[in-house]
Amino acid sequence: VASLKPGGGLVVSCEHASHCLPARCRDLGLDAATLRSHIAWDIGAREVARALAKALGCVLHEGRYSRLLVDLNRSLGHRSLMAESSFGVVVPGNRDLEPHEKARRIAEYWRPYRDALARSVEHAIRRHGSCLHVSVHSFTPEVGGEARNADFGLLYDPARKGEGALAREWARRIAPFGLRVRMNYPYRGTSDGVTSALRRSFPASRYTAIEIELNQRLLGNRTGRTHIARVTRQSFFATLRS
Ligand SMILES: [Zn+2]
Repeated sequence: VASLKPGGGLVVSCEHASHCLPARCRDLGLDAATLRSHIAWDIGAREVARALAKALGCVLHEGRYSRLLVDLNRSLGHRSLMAESSFGVVVPGNRDLEPHEKARRIAEYWRPYRDALARSVEHAIRRHGSCLHVSVHSFTPEVGGEARNADFGLLYDPARKGEGALAREWARRIAPFGLRVRMNYPYRGTSDGVTSALRRSFPASRYTAIEIELNQRLLGNRTGRTHIARVTRQSFFATLRS
């Protein structure tokens, strides 16, 4: 951790930054309110990712379209890559998709994003010897009537010791802000996603990844987003300096 300096070897990404859709997709048959809800994107994640990348002076990869078009954080072949339903909401425009439409979404959007992200990681490794990647996401505070009891989730691969050490230090730096951090919550760090895919391409000695998951309860308005962006930035800087 001590060898990583702001600006050196760092990559920030935000796969679910946007709820937009290309005009030709006709909103996938969803109404405007649904398209602005958590099923279409990670509410508030974009602001936090931008603030973090700006403060670090590093590259930011940001999804341009809703995850409902094609999910940048899912592997090809994953059943929710182009979800026919999400959190119980049917996505009409994704039902019975023609193979050519699937291929088009992958070629025009999924592949360029994943390739560009991998190239940034490669570039950071070539230039700095290793890469630290932070993938910024947010989660809905309640699922199926059950509250999720964390403010921050830090997701990592327990098999990679450097990632566990980094996540624990980061958690220690978030705690003084009075926010609750949980490890590998609400998802496991080894679940399907960009970090898991990149771990298959780059060894632990070269590539360290943390996915940060923020509770959308804290991100509902500008004041909240600004606060959480500041907490994320300051705690991460303290982690890098430790
Ligand atoms: Zn996400």
